[in-house]
Amino acid sequence: MERDVTFAVDGMLARLGKYLRALGYDTLSAPLFGDALFHRAEAEGRIVVTARSAVPGDFGGRVLLVRGEPVERQIAGIFAALNITPSRESVLTRCLECNAVTRDVPLEEVRDRVPEGIREKVSSYRICPSCNRVYWWGSHADRIVERLEESGVFG
Ligand SMILES: [Zn+2]
Repeated sequence: MERDVTFAVDGMLARLGKYLRALGYDTLSAPLFGDALFHRAEAEGRIVVTARSAVPGDFGGRVLLVRGEPVERQIAGIFAALNITPSRESVLTRCLECNAVTRDVPLEEVRDRVPEGIREKVSSYRICPSCNRVYWWGSHADRIVERLEESGVFG
């Protein structure tokens, strides 16, 4: 299944890693480079996303090379190469910061952390069980999602 696709992003591409997480994809994004990145990706069955063409000769996994272009174009290229259309429903299901799967949370539980103007407009919230960040449509990820919409990532 598409949801089983997981990524390991080159340490140089941290921003791209956040975009993949915003789309709900399990993405390893750490200061990992070169052989260390490829070894970790292979051990965990992750697709390597990198801007470098130096792939270790013994690497048995999949590599996607991205070019130096706007991150939304890179994202569009990745999903085109994989022949996958990301789902809008998966947006914000993963924490942008720590990659943990977020869970639905009632507004009452996070009320003091949501600005009043938002509470009136937004009915659904998610929280990261690992770092406790609260997400909602219109929060951290709204610009990301907006850009992805514009670049046609959702088909
Ligand atoms: Zn988190």
